Amino acid sequence: MKILKVCHACDRIIGEIEIDDLTRQNTDPIMDIVGNVAYALCSGCVREMEMQPRHVYH
Ligand SMILES: [Zn+2]
Repeated sequence: MKILKVCHACDRIIGEIEIDDLTRQNTDPIMDIVGNVAYALCSGCVREMEMQPRHVYH
């Protein structure tokens, strides 16, 4: 079963992941799975947050 991986900050679709991979290996600690969508951060937003350490997203 595949779920969509969506950026938490800009709602951009990062890609698709196989749900089986999540349980088996390297679970991303910042990833938050809601229904069949996994929220994470795209590389652009990660870079943006690194440049703005005071920025808080919710
Ligand atoms: Zn993003």
